Amino acid sequence: MFTSINPFTQKTIAEYTPHTPAEIEQKLQTGEKAYRTLLQVPLEQRRKWMMQVAGSLKANVEAHAALITQEMGKTLKEARAEVLKCAATAEYFAENITQILQPRPIESEAYKSYVSYEPKGIILAIMPWNFPYWQVFRFAIPNVLAGNTGLLKHASNVSGCALAIEKVFMESGFPEGTFQSLLVSSKDLEPIVADPRVQGVTLTGSTPAGKSVAALAGKYLKKTVLELGGSDPFIVLKDADLEAAARTAVQGRMQNAGQSCIAAKRWIVEKEIVPAFTAAVRHLLEHLQQGDPTLDSTNMGPMARPDLAEELAKQLQDTIRQGAKLELGGTYEGCNFAPTLLTGVTSDMTAFREETFGPVAVIIEAADEDEAIALANETDFGLGSALWTSDLDKAARLATRIESGNVFINAMVRSDARLPFGGVKQSGYGRELSLEGTHEFLNIKTVYIQ
Ligand code: NAP
Repeated sequence: MFTSINPFTQKTIAEYTPHTPAEIEQKLQTGEKAYRTLLQVPLEQRRKWMMQVAGSLKANVEAHAALITQEMGKTLKEARAEVLKCAATAEYFAENITQILQPRPIESEAYKSYVSYEPKGIILAIMPWNFPYWQVFRFAIPNVLAGNTGLLKHASNVSGCALAIEKVFMESGFPEGTFQSLLVSSKDLEPIVADPRVQGVTLTGSTPAGKSVAALAGKYLKKTVLELGGSDPFIVLKDADLEAAARTAVQGRMQNAGQSCIAAKRWIVEKEIVPAFTAAVRHLLEHLQQGDPTLDSTNMGPMARPDLAEELAKQLQDTIRQGAKLELGGTYEGCNFAPTLLTGVTSDMTAFREETFGPVAVIIEAADEDEAIALANETDFGLGSALWTSDLDKAARLATRIESGNVFINAMVRSDARLPFGGVKQSGYGRELSLEGTHEFLNIKTVYIQ
């Protein structure tokens, strides 16, 4: 059984029976049939259906947000924003997909040659619980518009969200099977990955899960996109707007109770401003209200599961034992983890070397900008990064030296339908969103007419 447990109350919300092999086979057949049907459907019609998806999400935002909050604990405010971001992204791609799929002419000696972008079939999506709507929609929207169909294996603690998303697509006019949720354990995925009707696998999740799925997909020669863990640097140079940097650092680290792949997990601060930056962030962290996610006054909910809080507490204790100073927080009960601040963190400590997936902020001192960049890169991960300085020429220069899939200057790292999103190093490969993300699971077909 898959059990959904409210992280704040620890009460069981619902239990879901896994699909049987026969039900999974039925879904593969329906997904394949929907793909064949979509091939005959004009893009204009798919765009209209996607606008219905956006409308349905907006009309039912409260119900969707309540479900998210119940299953994984983020505040209702954050959950509403997540649902509306999915709706806005559906609208963005409905408006821009024609351009994104436009064949690209290439000059050659042929009478005509060009690249055509064509769908391939069913794509299996393995998704995490931390943004249980956004992670799914950011894969599904461009793929379905381009003519692929989606089979979702969601994280086992958010089955209610998985089924609600399937219903949104069903009720928006898309052919049955265009987007389906599978209630299946990660250890039972091999026959699905192996199935010839499945043309690709996308995984958003931890680096170990990514390696395991990439190995499986490699065995059956299936294309993969991997959006994995991160330990993003948030660099604050001494000429930065300190107040804005402090505010954004706290937001970037603490939103979603710190459970974001692109959270600002390592605050790397130039030596001269460490005392002022520490005072500024400490003040902001002290005023964060952690607690009941359904209350308007709460700005940080519980973590999603008690085992995740325990794991974070262990990383915290290791880092303190290694010499870091606990400035604030450090306590937890069940899933409720107090916003925590560590100073004096160095590159040999656990909170620097490992991904910390919860509300623990760390300050790392850098002697100068060169050391700041070196520290930023001294990690196995390479998802996002932020750099704060008032010298924009210097920022552009330094941005080229950071090993990550994106660099945000004087802004918080975020995903945005218009911008490609993804990582390098152990944070994975491939991109989502924008033109690059939409093309990942398409057949990039060369057409040459003599
Ligand atoms: P996770 O444990 O890796 O789970 C993610 C998904 O993968 C779940 O559906 C999970 O299923 C499945 N899974 C786990 N191990 C698997 C395996 N060996 N084979 C096949 N599927 C497997 O990650 P999480 O705890 O849900 O999410 C947190 C991690 O995701 C963090 O590392 C975070 O940085 C990363 N993340 C990355 C991005 C990005 O865009 N780069 C975005 C969000 C999160 P079960 O639930 O059934 O185990």
